[in-house]
Amino acid sequence: MTFEEYQSEASVTALYPRRMNNLEYPTLGLAGEAGEVANIVKKIQRDHAGVITDEVRGKLKDELGDVLWYISACADELGLTLQEVAEFNVNKLAKRHGR
Ligand SMILES: [Mg+2]
Repeated sequence: MTFEEYQSEASVTALYPRRMNNLEYPTLGLAGEAGEVANIVKKIQRDHAGVITDEVRGKLKDELGDVLWYISACADELGLTLQEVAEFNVNKLAKRHGR
């Protein structure tokens, strides 16, 4: 699956209020889902002695997907593609790395 295909399919499931320029909703959702990832990682230390079990890995896979969905929705709201966000990021990192 390409970023383009993902963004297209994800936007079909965007059921939040799609008024003009509703960047706030997906941004809040992104922060919430990032918090869910952080909470699971916290519990790796608390409950699993730092060991990432297959079950925990599966939960993180699920929550990282939720993060991706909200990133895609934020990109939609800004008129950006995930592809260009990804390309911009790797180019930025390459320049920084070359410093
Ligand atoms: Mg979630």
